[in-house]
Amino acid sequence: MIAKHCTVYPIIVPTPYNLKSFNFYLVEEAGSLSLIDAGVDTVDAWELLRQTLTKHGFAFSDLKQILVTHNHHDHIGLINRICAQQAVPVYAHAEAIPRMKRDPKFLTMRIKFFEQLYREMGCGPMGEKQIEKLKEAVHNNQHQMIRTDILPFTGSDSIGDFQIIETPGHAPDHVSFFDPKKKWLFVGDHLIQHISSNAIVEPDQQGQRILTLIQYKESLQKCLTIDAEIIFPGHGELIRNHQELIHRRLTRMDQKAEKMLELLASGLSTANQLAQTLYKGKYESEFSLVMSEIIGHLDYLEANGRIQKDQKDGVWQYSPLN
Ligand SMILES: [Zn+2]
Repeated sequence: MIAKHCTVYPIIVPTPYNLKSFNFYLVEEAGSLSLIDAGVDTVDAWELLRQTLTKHGFAFSDLKQILVTHNHHDHIGLINRICAQQAVPVYAHAEAIPRMKRDPKFLTMRIKFFEQLYREMGCGPMGEKQIEKLKEAVHNNQHQMIRTDILPFTGSDSIGDFQIIETPGHAPDHVSFFDPKKKWLFVGDHLIQHISSNAIVEPDQQGQRILTLIQYKESLQKCLTIDAEIIFPGHGELIRNHQELIHRRLTRMDQKAEKMLELLASGLSTANQLAQTLYKGKYESEFSLVMSEIIGHLDYLEANGRIQKDQKDGVWQYSPLN
């Protein structure tokens, strides 16, 4: 029997920031070429993709599909440029579509969602500043809109040689792709070796808040059971022992929750107070990520029956139970 020719050609675009690199992957399986994620929209990333194709004897016309792990701009950046060269089908989770298409109704709803959330979490002026940023981004990031049709995975649990594994948490539409024959797992931002992924707070398409950290934990546990040998992440180095890394992430999650519980016991009561106390250095510069961390861990403590919340003057006050 002739072994099927199967190769991954990683495209690694270095960045000086703490993400280390933007990674996306050309995967050749039995003569079929897929692109998993589509990098960041820069000249460097575009040139590296072109060079990688050429070096291995491919052209854009060989691309059979683009598979998207999640909607974030640094994973879909080159889709418009690629599709301008060659019509390639783009597949993503159904939840990704209004986000990748920058649907105006969805974006308006999302801003309203954050306005209410930051008000109820006691964020005051910083929350208002963040809402202004979100409003400006609607206009300023319009170029990130994906112009080609996006085909949802809905109803299928595999695509070509890949199993589609829903791994929401970092993003509501996040999926991972697993090739069980090769034991390759493409995880986007679900797992990164050198930094922990943020479970970013988001509304669903109906405007309801998703309990993202709880979802993220469930997705990590799901990946513990996958018999993968090489994990291909969206940033940083390849991961060989994902079980050990996942256990570390889960332990860290509990430690952070305990720390917040201590602060609540010492008298702090709002998400904003916790954010200012725990993340002094990042509170202003990375406000939305910091709030996601705090809100996520409060959800987690609440779901575990460790804390309760009551609204006072429209702001949630959290307190330890017994
Ligand atoms: Zn991401």
